[in-house]
Amino acid sequence: MAGRLRAVIFGRQGAGKGTQSARLSAHYGAPHISTGDMLRAAVSEGTEFGRKADEYMRGGNLVPDDVMIGVVRERLAKPDAVEGGFLLDGFPRTLGQSEALLDITGDDGIDVVIDLDVPLDVVTARMKGRGRADDTDEAIARRLELYEKETGPVLAWFERRGKLVTVDGVGTEEEVFARLSAAVDRRLGQR
Ligand code: AMP
Repeated sequence: MAGRLRAVIFGRQGAGKGTQSARLSAHYGAPHISTGDMLRAAVSEGTEFGRKADEYMRGGNLVPDDVMIGVVRERLAKPDAVEGGFLLDGFPRTLGQSEALLDITGDDGIDVVIDLDVPLDVVTARMKGRGRADDTDEAIARRLELYEKETGPVLAWFERRGKLVTVDGVGTEEEVFARLSAAVDRRLGQR
């Protein structure tokens, strides 16, 4: 099963993670599982779970680990993920979630953890260029700082386990995708 991909992708806001995740998902036939998208879907459906999640999200807080771990465990048990693998996006965000993920998949159940790396000054300039109302300089800086604080320990944790691959995310969509798929193929070839 050389083609089946089981991966996690990280990247700052503005790094092009959404675009590249969609391409990787299509290329490897692995469902793109974004916990943020799943939570937003639950919120718009107005389920009990969605209402609870909404409170955390609005407050700028993380949804508690036990809840998120349950959500991801169920999602990864669905046939498309069991058969096609997965590209996880937005999870894990804490060390507790990281440990739980390897519990769920097994130590050999993650092929690669990708850090799509675009320097702070480049993503900041990209976000300013979008000109959205919530993209004030302070808001952008705060979001990026929060991301760094949240993600730093998680990336280090996966690096210690030999799972982390950093991919340069600066370039055209094609260039970046070529780098990503080459890095992933190298990993898949090593299994
Ligand atoms: P995102 O679109 O990935 O930035 O997620 C949007 C919001 O959903 C986050 O700010 C959190 O409140 C919540 N969320 C998404 N994924 C997770 C996760 N793995 N753990 C906790 N909260 C999460």
